[in-house]
Amino acid sequence: MKQLKKWTALFLAICCLLTLLPMTASASNGQKKLIALTFDDGPGPYTQRLLDGLAARGVQATFFELGMRAETYDDTTRRILREGHQVAQHGYDHPQLTSLSDDGVRWQIGHTEDILNDVLGRSFTYLVRPPYGDFNSRVLSLLDAPAIIWSIDPVDWRDRNAYTVRDRIVARAFDGAIILCHDIYSSTVDGVLMAIDILQEQGYEFVTVNELYRRRGVSLNNGETYYSCKPTGTQLDAVKAPVISTEIVNGNARVKLTAEAGAAIYYTTDGSDPVFNGKRYTAPFDFTVGMTVKTCAAYNLNGSRSETVTKKLDALGIDPTVRVEDGKIVFDNRNQNADVLFTTDGSVPNTGSQSYSAPFECYDGVLRFRALGENVCTPVKTIYVTKNGNLFWDVPNTSWYFDEADRATTLGLFNGTGVYRFSPDGTLTRAMFVTTLYRLMQRTDADLTPPETQSFADVPAGQWYSEAAAWAAENGIVLGYADGTFRPEQSITREEMCVMLDRLLDRFGITTSGTPMTFADADCISDWAKESVDRLSACGIINGQRGNRFAPARGSTRAEAAAVLLRLYDLIG
Ligand code: ZN
Repeated sequence: MKQLKKWTALFLAICCLLTLLPMTASASNGQKKLIALTFDDGPGPYTQRLLDGLAARGVQATFFELGMRAETYDDTTRRILREGHQVAQHGYDHPQLTSLSDDGVRWQIGHTEDILNDVLGRSFTYLVRPPYGDFNSRVLSLLDAPAIIWSIDPVDWRDRNAYTVRDRIVARAFDGAIILCHDIYSSTVDGVLMAIDILQEQGYEFVTVNELYRRRGVSLNNGETYYSCKPTGTQLDAVKAPVISTEIVNGNARVKLTAEAGAAIYYTTDGSDPVFNGKRYTAPFDFTVGMTVKTCAAYNLNGSRSETVTKKLDALGIDPTVRVEDGKIVFDNRNQNADVLFTTDGSVPNTGSQSYSAPFECYDGVLRFRALGENVCTPVKTIYVTKNGNLFWDVPNTSWYFDEADRATTLGLFNGTGVYRFSPDGTLTRAMFVTTLYRLMQRTDADLTPPETQSFADVPAGQWYSEAAAWAAENGIVLGYADGTFRPEQSITREEMCVMLDRLLDRFGITTSGTPMTFADADCISDWAKESVDRLSACGIINGQRGNRFAPARGSTRAEAAAVLLRLYDLIG
């Protein structure tokens, strides 16, 4: 029994050790090994290939450029910054700084800074590496920047062999090292990329010089020299990209960007790169549909920044839908964490407006609504409601034809032209008119017998208007044209409408009375229509238009036709 306990204890101890082993092997206390690659004397013809290799491996590096090279390789210099590397400087034409006068040192550094700012389109402070690593206290005091030296020199400028470069870097690598390389040699590019593959396997993360020091809590001071940055006990994370969200303030949608404390946020809204064109974010800004937000967080856009994130802001959320069910208005909210807010007085639904909770009674008037909530702000929709339970997007309650559209729809005279669309200004074709007329008569006590024959050469069977056209022909309401056609798609003129209605009144024995109106344009009315126009104006079914004109040849709109047909309906009773 005692023996078993002992073995169990040993077994447990081994298990614990096995659990701990992978952690202690890769990094101490879960901290990553950091290392900084630096490239001097470029950019050059091999730098683009190096950048391709670094990008493929997710590696960041620092480039101590010569001013004279940056002038020539300006595109490469911009690519270096764009891809998250750090642009630093090495003087204009590689002099030994200690041999120059004060003004000479200032010119080398100042002129290169101007060139880099010009090429990059933004102003930065550039880390300096004195050529040959040659400096003294006088030179350091003139730099106005930290001086970055190195801790590993593979002597790649002398030994142009990729394997030699690789082996020296790998053999001497340590956590916090700064490695000196030159991207103007093809052998260096090959050797460095091979070394990266090996060191990444060993758990190294390649960072810019700025990041190496920032993540270990060490600040870089002007006029001081730096060779490496071994673990300090502090290890911060890489800069996290901002979070793009939207918020509603007083009913208006705003875009909000959030990043870790201390990091600046840069952004653009036109699709351009925030690293080059970004504005500094200070407060939420107005949201517009279709806006593309690109943003990154940075302690320094040059060398200490996050990845850039992009978000195209389409509509925020999904439009709620509205319908009428059992005479009540029902909203369908298709958004989570959002309410449907609505108003019935024409005002814009806002955070203080009524929130939809249950179906409510129809009324004659306007209904405006939208969904509002966390990350949801749909555009305001306006629809018109009638007591009879009709909804119209295009029939304002203030229009003269609001009641007509409502009654005509309720009676089923008009089929809408789409969901909740009446198209009041749409023109009325001959086919539409006879169809509404037929439907109207079906809703009266009139004795209607279904038509038996087809009537017109151009009205095929099975069309939505075929039966109505045949009925109109059989009852002598429509005679058609001399060539035997009906011309269903032709818009009906006002005088044609009068003639058809006149024949219908005759056919069904409806008597009318009253005095005909005298229209200002009476001379324009065709002879064959004069009597019909007189009769219909006398009984008030058709009215004049602006300026007491009849406008006989004008087409009728759907709203006008609805009004005429409803007066006929009332007359027939
Ligand atoms: Zn150099």
